[in-house]
Amino acid sequence: MLSKNIQRLLSAAVIGMSIYSLPMFSLTASAATNESSNVGTADASNSGSKSVSPYEQLMDKTPIEPTKVFDNLYFIGSNGVGSWLVNTSDGLILIDAMRTIEDAEDIIIPGIKKLGFDPANIKYILVTHGHGDHYGAAQYIHNNYGAPILMSADDWNYMNTHSTEANGPEFPKPTTHTDITDGEKLTLGDTSITIVSTPGHTPGGVSLIIPVTDNGTKHMVGMWGGTGLPQLLEDNEKYLNSLDYFAKFTDAAQVDAEITAHPFTDNSIERLETLRNRKSGDPNPYVIGQDGYKAYMDKMKIRVTDNIKKLEEEK
Ligand SMILES: [Zn+2]
Repeated sequence: MLSKNIQRLLSAAVIGMSIYSLPMFSLTASAATNESSNVGTADASNSGSKSVSPYEQLMDKTPIEPTKVFDNLYFIGSNGVGSWLVNTSDGLILIDAMRTIEDAEDIIIPGIKKLGFDPANIKYILVTHGHGDHYGAAQYIHNNYGAPILMSADDWNYMNTHSTEANGPEFPKPTTHTDITDGEKLTLGDTSITIVSTPGHTPGGVSLIIPVTDNGTKHMVGMWGGTGLPQLLEDNEKYLNSLDYFAKFTDAAQVDAEITAHPFTDNSIERLETLRNRKSGDPNPYVIGQDGYKAYMDKMKIRVTDNIKKLEEEK
């Protein structure tokens, strides 16, 4: 049995989203179904509005209040895209770095401070994939605070050989990096993040498994790194294989919670608001259970399988 929360998450997930070719979808979250009395205005202004295209949602720079999601995991960003901050016993890991230097100056760095952390404590900047909305502020943060930028060799190469659309000049490219590889554990202090190579959205994108606690209770978070479906058939086939591959890791790790870098794709605008108003004893809307995570992955498989069929017919 999937909870209402998971069903809404699944129906809202923009699995078919490609960064520059976005099929229509609808966010189903609505104020009426949220029992919290404090549904955010940012959410209310977006969800349910048919006039807002997915592309506009991706580019939506409306800031989201920095939010503690788990005891050791925080969201910092905007409606369109954001970063995740992992707090370990030996410093901070920043996952993804939004689009621009302005995002660093106006959102990421102030957000880290607002959450009570020191940006000088960032030990790694982990970039899930080589698109500008995930790496744009990475070099700025590296230059100012010294943390190495971690990227796969394939996406480092991809980023440096593409300069249009999602790799356009409006997104500053990192000029230094350290390779990450499939199956690697990124360990800092008491926390080990599992890095899994999941090509398809980009040639070298990675997905992550992050151990967290929620008021002391252990959970495992899955973060699928590149949400949107690619345009080429062969890349869609890679995407499908990567889902199966990542599922082996998420099953083994008993992943029971889901995050992405794009709040508008998975009801995060609403879920983060719910968390900011969470009262003692309220459930954490990011915990969807192991069945919920499997259903989330299955839904992505259906979307890419349908897209493969469509692309084969068009050949
Ligand atoms: Zn991307």
